[in-house]
Amino acid sequence: MRHFSRLFSVMAGPRPVVCSGPSGVGKSTLLKKLMKEYEGVFGFSISHTTRKPRPGEQNGIDYHYVTRDVMQAGIDNGDFIESAEFSGNLYGTSKAAVQEVQSKNLICLLDIDMQGVKNIKKTDLNPMFISIQPPSMEILEKRLRGRKTESEESLQKRLQTAKIEMEFSKEPGAFDVIIINDNLDDAYAKLKDALKEEIDKVKKVSS
Ligand code: ADP
Ligand code: 5GP
Repeated sequence: MRHFSRLFSVMAGPRPVVCSGPSGVGKSTLLKKLMKEYEGVFGFSISHTTRKPRPGEQNGIDYHYVTRDVMQAGIDNGDFIESAEFSGNLYGTSKAAVQEVQSKNLICLLDIDMQGVKNIKKTDLNPMFISIQPPSMEILEKRLRGRKTESEESLQKRLQTAKIEMEFSKEPGAFDVIIINDNLDDAYAKLKDALKEEIDKVKKVSS
């Protein structure tokens, strides 16, 4: 991990951004909005996962969908910066996914869980850590149900994990910025504000 993490600092482009928070809080919604408004500024680190694609998700865009055997072989081979088991599936950030974005001098956006946050902190990636939090557990549940993507079992697992993730976000120093996603426009404005400096830097270089 050390050897490859040094590679990231050598490549040092704009500072990556890690976005984390309970499943269903609105991370994808916020990140998609950001990438749409700032085309050519951000690049998404496309994770690998063993979970099945949801309707509308595309292989190689939302995730690289792989079998557990393939993913485990990649992990054993040292292809991943971090990986974690979440709600019965494996998820992980490959070194190639981050390098692909950084080679284009874009701000690399990572959408990862709490375990990923902890593991990325052990590397030299040095991202900004942003936590997206729901106004309440009730609202989180409503959003997860409203998305209609989870079985009851998966939903319950995600809500259980959410409690732990919400507690973790309160630990001092866990995140640089915490944004409560109540009203979407307000949360988005806060996210843009947190990233303003980095966005301006990238815009200046590319103009
Ligand atoms: P995550 O990526 O964190 O799992 P999503 O972006 O898929 O979450 O959002 C979960 C659901 O909540 C989606 O149906 C989305 O449209 C909805 N949603 C996101 N943000 C808000 C918000 N501020 N208010 C109401 N619904 C929201
Ligand atoms: P979902 O199945 O809803 O797309 O994602 C479930 C959880 O996995 C979310 O908390 C998301 O942030 C996290 N996740 C997605 N990709 C990765 C990854 O590469 N590594 C880690 N650790 N978590 C990930």
